[in-house]
Amino acid sequence: MSTPSVVVVGAVNVDLVVTAPRLPRPGETVVGPAVGRHGGGKGANAAVAAARAGAHVRYVGAVGDDDFGRDALAELRAEGIGVADVAVRPGVATGVALIVVDESGENQIAVGAGANDRVTAGDVRAAIEAALPDLGCVLVSTEIPAAAVRAAVEIAAGEGIPCVLNPAPVTPVVADLLKYGPLLTPNAGELATLSEAVRNERPLGADVQVQARGLSEHTGAAVVVTLGGDGVLVVAPDSATEHLPPRPATVRDTTGAGDTFNGVLAARLAAGEALVPAVRVANAAAALSVAAVGARDGMPDEPAIRAALD
Ligand code: ADP
Repeated sequence: MSTPSVVVVGAVNVDLVVTAPRLPRPGETVVGPAVGRHGGGKGANAAVAAARAGAHVRYVGAVGDDDFGRDALAELRAEGIGVADVAVRPGVATGVALIVVDESGENQIAVGAGANDRVTAGDVRAAIEAALPDLGCVLVSTEIPAAAVRAAVEIAAGEGIPCVLNPAPVTPVVADLLKYGPLLTPNAGELATLSEAVRNERPLGADVQVQARGLSEHTGAAVVVTLGGDGVLVVAPDSATEHLPPRPATVRDTTGAGDTFNGVLAARLAAGEALVPAVRVANAAAALSVAAVGARDGMPDEPAIRAALD
């Protein structure tokens, strides 16, 4: 396989994490002993996962001209990720996520988007064009403006580069982009929402397999559904549905499991691996990632992933 190069487009945040006995109800305050600060944002997290899995990664996003932004970029650089395409927007704060994690590892998250709302189509175009000679995959998630998401999917399609679209969250632009046939990686909730977009053509019902098959027939491309502790479902045109069971996991914090999955999947696809083997590796990497608190702390490197697969 060749040296994989991946462009990751999406949000970057600073995550402020409180571990508490349980999640607060509306209006309630819960107090827990632990407080942590971690690098976060679905885009930046996935970039870290892809880099640790061995890919050459360029990350595209935006930060404020503030300490959180400088720290966020320093953390990405330390992972070997190219951040030359990250825009620094004066007068706006770097994105922040407020996260509460309970004793079972379940979480609750509120995000202040800040500079993530200022990523432009031009930023994305410049990054992809600079990466083109070695580019093996574009990975995009949707916590950034629709124009930037659209640019990533359209340019990748135009250049014939594989594109993974993680519809997290399902924003209106996602339905518009299905015609380009991106590889979609929804979780079960996102799949149900996306199914509504294609439901006009035929009823899809509540079953995850039926929904994923209907969506795949609509896009003409694979749909990979992440099912948390139930593993992954792979539905691709002209092949039987495959369910990959979850890998053994010690669950401490599931924040970032999906990001790990997407980043590693993009890294393996960029390296030329076929879909189902690439999903198998991403499934193993994501199971390792839930063992530590903080989205990136449990993300495995290449040797750890290989060891888990042996
Ligand atoms: P998201 O965080 O985007 O909702 P999921 O919760 O579906 O994503 O998790 C993504 C992937 O992480 C799963 O498909 C699986 O590979 C892995 N994963 C998550 N939770 C567990 C778990 N409890 N045991 C094993 N693997 C898990």
